[in-house]
Amino acid sequence: MAKRDYYEVLGVSNSASQEEIKKAYRKIAIKYHPDKNPDDPTAEDKFKEAAEAYEVLSDQQKRQRYDQFGHQGMNGGFGGGGMNMEDIFSQFGDIFGGGGSPFDSFFGGRQGGGGRRTRKGTNLRIKLKLNLEEIANGVEKKIKVKRYVACSTCGGNGAKNGTDLQTCSSCQGSGQVRKVVNTMLGQMVSASTCPVCHGEGKVVTNKCETCHGTGRELQEEVITINVPAGVMDGMQLSMSGKGNVPERGGIPGDLLIQIEEEQHATLKRDGNNVIFDQYISFIDAALGADIEVPTISGKVKVNIKPGTQSGEIFRLRGKGIKDINGYGKGDQLIHINVWTPKSLNSEERAKLESLRDSNNFAPHPGKNDKGFFEKVKDYFQ
Ligand SMILES: [Zn+2]
Ligand SMILES: [Zn+2]
Repeated sequence: MAKRDYYEVLGVSNSASQEEIKKAYRKIAIKYHPDKNPDDPTAEDKFKEAAEAYEVLSDQQKRQRYDQFGHQGMNGGFGGGGMNMEDIFSQFGDIFGGGGSPFDSFFGGRQGGGGRRTRKGTNLRIKLKLNLEEIANGVEKKIKVKRYVACSTCGGNGAKNGTDLQTCSSCQGSGQVRKVVNTMLGQMVSASTCPVCHGEGKVVTNKCETCHGTGRELQEEVITINVPAGVMDGMQLSMSGKGNVPERGGIPGDLLIQIEEEQHATLKRDGNNVIFDQYISFIDAALGADIEVPTISGKVKVNIKPGTQSGEIFRLRGKGIKDINGYGKGDQLIHINVWTPKSLNSEERAKLESLRDSNNFAPHPGKNDKGFFEKVKDYFQ
């Protein structure tokens, strides 16, 4: 199922300002909120679709990447796909300003304005080195990652056996404390996060011995990353939920994977094309020859026609890199360099000397012998 364009989802133009994007999203979120549409099963999908679009377009960096690479650029084509409800509701603080969301009933105790809320753990960043062959066709990589996961003894709350918890006496478990403040306009009640339980509503009586009350432990894990074909050096892929779990429970952060492209010994990358510099002797250039050329998918035979000029470019169609957005494959371009001998023995010199005045050896460039600039125009457009 093809994903809809994010701009289309929010009904804004590609050049929409942040304010327009925010406004458009707010409208859709209110219209399709699942609470308001209990009988419409498509409402939740639309709600989630809009949330995902907003998530990307409201972030300068993500929006730029999306404009450049489309959906593929966002999650690298793996796992990704959609946000969960927790993610969506954590956006709302920003969209509707503080706790003043029109959906307080829906939030329940989840995000009661400065009170208890779901914490998100930190993101984990790794670098992933890939060679040109791996990039060309995509690759599945298994990597070891050390990340914080919920403590296996207490289940993540940090209490001994997971049960030695008490309701916080300072806030009676609500996670927030209310203060009455006298102002010029009269008395106002302000709510803030409870300083004793830090908004959790519960305090640990006895700490779990495995995690010393943190609720998490470091674990080495093997994670499978499906790298799509055509990624570029410096590009970042993300796997949601594969980062660290926060202390004493919550949703894990993301695993951010930065792509590093290893330089190939003989092939050079230019976008989705691969460039190879082939040196041939001027004897081969004049008489023609069959040569073997390396490509990312093994060696390929190439016929050099008699009369091949230095600077000619041969194109091997489809021997390049798969496009990250699925728009076909690049080519391999073979750049021919005719090698001029740098030293000659007397016999060789005599043979060449005898050909010096031969008319066929004098340059006669015709209109098909294009200069450098025309070639660049032809092949790199
Ligand atoms: Zn524990
Ligand atoms: Zn408290």
